[in-house]
Amino acid sequence: MRALQLVSHGTPGRFEYRDVATPQPGPQEVRVAVRACGLNRLDLWLEENGLPVRLELPRTPGGEVAGVVEACGSEVVGWKPGDRVAVQSNLYCGVCEFCVRGDESMCLNSLLLGVQCDGGFAEYCVVPARALVRIPDGLGDVDSAALTLAGSTAMHMLTDRTQVEEGQWVLVIGGASGVGSAAIQIARGLGARVITTASTPAKKAFCQQLGAEQVVDPADADWPALVRSATGKRGVDVVVEHVGGKVLEQVFHCLARGGTVVTCGATAGREIHLQVWPLFVKQQKLVGSYGRNRKDMVATLDWAAEGRLRASVDEVIPLERGAEAFERLRQRKVSGKLVLKP
Ligand SMILES: [Zn+2]
Repeated sequence: MRALQLVSHGTPGRFEYRDVATPQPGPQEVRVAVRACGLNRLDLWLEENGLPVRLELPRTPGGEVAGVVEACGSEVVGWKPGDRVAVQSNLYCGVCEFCVRGDESMCLNSLLLGVQCDGGFAEYCVVPARALVRIPDGLGDVDSAALTLAGSTAMHMLTDRTQVEEGQWVLVIGGASGVGSAAIQIARGLGARVITTASTPAKKAFCQQLGAEQVVDPADADWPALVRSATGKRGVDVVVEHVGGKVLEQVFHCLARGGTVVTCGATAGREIHLQVWPLFVKQQKLVGSYGRNRKDMVATLDWAAEGRLRASVDEVIPLERGAEAFERLRQRKVSGKLVLKP
């Protein structure tokens, strides 16, 4: 089969589009014929060797797979060739304490698809059958691939790690990004009022189309004050934060008493200064979020099939031009998602 493989780390890394052996499923695994696979910040971290896990090359990246079951291992039940599937990319063990209670995102033995094992930037990929989620009728492969990872990350942040309620104010950082664009729509769908940050007029217009009622420019030194004044100086109830660094420090200036900052990602820095005095006086929470549970995947795809969550696809790019897609995402010349198609 053909696959896009990372053969050496770097910024940019070196990719080869080449023939590799078609993977064979083990007893509890399935082989999925990939129809589309979304590109994510996680893929760039793999490219630049920026993850705190041991990485081996060559590696086929790609964790956001939409495809069709092509072959099933001998012990697989409930799936058959031809089933349309998305893949929960935090491949979980299914037997540890956390998996058993439905918190697969906390699995003690999880592997990242496309990082610690070969992913979906190929004609086929092999995954455990338990990681499959059915793609609902009415949801296309590209839309599924654009939402599976980023959309369910946002769903996990807004409905599991914190529960957004009707009428609350939600600040979404980086509203034009994959996670941000999904978070705006999910927060609106839950009945919240949304403020977001966006850095260009095009991104600002994009966020407004998704339902953000206020957009502030993060280049404005006083942007947290703009958020506060948009809420009548009260502050927001929830911040969806996926940048880290200084931005994560600043969002506390936007937060109401009793409010919650939910964070994942930390692209811009993994160490911050936290002002503990206002945190406890205002009884605020800082909550970590990682990956997604199966129920978040199911909810994301259902919302999408019902038209409550729209995939924001910037461009569908042929797999053989995948290296260009990595470059574009790194340059942040993207509104919504880049999706690769074998
Ligand atoms: Zn587990």
